Amino acid sequence: MIQSIAAFIASTISIFSGELSGEIVDHRLTGKLYDIQGFSVHDGPGIRTTVYLKGCPLRCRWCHSPESMRSADELSWFDARCIGIGKCGRCLDACPAGALSAGDPEHVLVVAEGKETEKITKVKIDRERCTVCLACAAACPAKALAPSGYEMSVGDVYERVARDKMFFSGEGGATISGGEPMMQFDFTYALAKKFAEENITVAIDTTGFAPGESYEKIAPYTDLFLYDLKHMDSEKHRKLCGVPNEPILENARRIARAGGKFQIRIPVIPKLNDSGENLRAAARFAVSLGDAALEIQLLPYHKLGASKYTRIGRDYPLRNVEAPSDEIMREYLELMQSFGLNAKIH
Ligand code: SF4
Ligand code: SF4
Repeated sequence: MIQSIAAFIASTISIFSGELSGEIVDHRLTGKLYDIQGFSVHDGPGIRTTVYLKGCPLRCRWCHSPESMRSADELSWFDARCIGIGKCGRCLDACPAGALSAGDPEHVLVVAEGKETEKITKVKIDRERCTVCLACAAACPAKALAPSGYEMSVGDVYERVARDKMFFSGEGGATISGGEPMMQFDFTYALAKKFAEENITVAIDTTGFAPGESYEKIAPYTDLFLYDLKHMDSEKHRKLCGVPNEPILENARRIARAGGKFQIRIPVIPKLNDSGENLRAAARFAVSLGDAALEIQLLPYHKLGASKYTRIGRDYPLRNVEAPSDEIMREYLELMQSFGLNAKIH
């Protein structure tokens, strides 16, 4: 009887769990995501499916994923999806805090009904009053109001990513990104192990600002770390991103010693981190990592994330910064290449 109970427990665990190097991975473990995107060509080599996790310890002023910063839910507003309070208005009744009201009437295109435009009134959100109870999101049939994150299990994320496996041929695979995925370490670790177990290559897109032991533990299941060098001066790094850079640089050395490989990424933000002095210091640091630094990517600043700030009711901090020119990016590229680095503009 005792044996049969033990066998039952073992078989139950095997349904939900995988085993790699003798360690059980619980596939029911959940993490908080804000997106999963297939066919990504910007998150590591080849065609990849990227899993975006919520929560980040940094507050980079140029962040283009503000919805990833906070671990807690926020209320997202997708203006174009709202069908108007004349036809719907369910959110107004659902809100217990009186945080929703009628906005200004506006003209919208209604092609399907053969009309050119129609005047509709959408809702507006008083963010001061909103308690983020998300009752309106539950009531909204159009998903115009929606939570900024959702829970998923390791097993369910794996199943979703595995649907894209046929496109990973060659060097593609899964990227675990954020936010900072190491903030949900148990989930990220279990996911990386599951991908490794199923022969899906793993890239982890990290700020480097997490406990060093965590990087050593996950390195055997990680083919590539996408690793930002945002500023080489720690005080300036703290002013721009909210944290000093020493732990980030130390973790990079630690990952290199553990056999990890890097795609080093340098966001180029005019006047904030694009001085020759800073780029040369970043190049010297990348050189010091030796063969571990497979590629250096220069990422020119862009404003594509600005509308996401509006969506969650926050101000975009870098309104007055313009993208660097192609010419200046080529100069920076040549500077990095002059250190013998495999540098590219991304
Ligand atoms: S999240 Fe809650 S408090 Fe905020 S607008 Fe929606 S229903 Fe109102
Ligand atoms: S419930 Fe959604 S679609 Fe309906 S009025 Fe509110 S935001 Fe618009």
